[in-house]
Amino acid sequence: MRIAMLCYHSSPMARLGEREAGGMSVYVRNLAQALGRQGATVDIFTRRHNAGDPPVAAMGEGVRLVHVDAGPPSSVAGPLLPYLPEFVVGAHAFAMAEGTSYDVAHSHYWLSGLAGLELAPAWGARLAATFHTLAEVKLLADPGAEEPPERSPAERRIVAAADAIVVSDRHERDLLAQHYAAPRSRVTVLPGGVDVDTFRPLDRDEARERLGLAGKRVLLCVGRFDPLKRYDLAVSAAALLRERHDVEVVLVGGDLNNDPEAERLSALAQTLGMDGRVRFAGTVPHDGLPTYYSAADVLLAPSWYESFGLVALEAMACGTPVVAARTGGLASLVRDGETGYLVPLHTPELYADRVEVLLANDGLRDAMGRAGRSRAEEMGWDAIGRRFAEFYCGLLTAEAVR
Ligand code: UDP
Repeated sequence: MRIAMLCYHSSPMARLGEREAGGMSVYVRNLAQALGRQGATVDIFTRRHNAGDPPVAAMGEGVRLVHVDAGPPSSVAGPLLPYLPEFVVGAHAFAMAEGTSYDVAHSHYWLSGLAGLELAPAWGARLAATFHTLAEVKLLADPGAEEPPERSPAERRIVAAADAIVVSDRHERDLLAQHYAAPRSRVTVLPGGVDVDTFRPLDRDEARERLGLAGKRVLLCVGRFDPLKRYDLAVSAAALLRERHDVEVVLVGGDLNNDPEAERLSALAQTLGMDGRVRFAGTVPHDGLPTYYSAADVLLAPSWYESFGLVALEAMACGTPVVAARTGGLASLVRDGETGYLVPLHTPELYADRVEVLLANDGLRDAMGRAGRSRAEEMGWDAIGRRFAEFYCGLLTAEAVR
């Protein structure tokens, strides 16, 4: 099977934790590699983000990353929609020059969905679309969020025209039906996975020692620095606990030289008298993260919304309990009272309350960590990749029958 992954706006090889590069990049990379290991041929198409990006790079068995010229070969602060036609032409020209076509085009995010609407028919491929986030849902969770006016109408067009829409969780299927009139029959629920070999429990004391956190109680947040992630709640909750515990909040991610959210969080830490107790670790390479997860007593995920909640799953894979907002994918990933706690409201008191339960009871924390690891083991990428391969085969069979 030949699969084209369309990943226009964010390279799966980008530095994670900054700007646009987050869960989607990890997801596309792991999914492509899992499919490659199963014998599929996968080309991932992305915009050339750096002048030095080679036209084609090998990314493991059967997987290639194809850089297509579209707009300036650098990260672009403004809208990327204007360069999309160039991307479509470039991706098509690449396939023509190689004399190749694809069975399935799988697009990621709305911009790539638009590209897919043109490329899939040109290649004679079925189009599967994953949105990762949806404009209407983001706006519901955070009415202040700014979205390009073209986004929501584009998402509607993709919903109407794609052969299938893939979501990570049932709640997303409901949201697509509710806000985008997506027929349930065309929406397939397939969860993302986690690399359970990279993300595994390490010795907690050693991990703390390595990070200079020996003797501390560690509250961890990992991700892009985006107000949607609500890291301010982690800082405020820790402030409520500091009388009783020697807490340190570790925030991983963000570009610390030039990040308004980092500045906002640092100002908050100062206001709350927490400046010595909040560590801005900056972006950490993906394979360096197990040390952070293992060092933590608890991972906090207080986001307004997460479509999947990959960071929570990575923490669970490392045997760390998660205290998360009862929202989006987090609500089914984290089992309340078993692998951590789900918090119904975005208030520091409720987070502090749940974290306190874990800090006061090492046995409970460790038991929840073990339950998290077992849950994560069910979601390794090889198993998830097999489900995707079956799903793509199903798309082709349905077309053949038609
Ligand atoms: N990540 C990383 N280094 C960092 C920050 C984040 O490797 O410094 C990775 C993290 O491990 C996870 C992804 O980026 O795999 C973030 O995914 P998530 O879905 O939680 O957030 P998103 O950024 O997609 O909203």
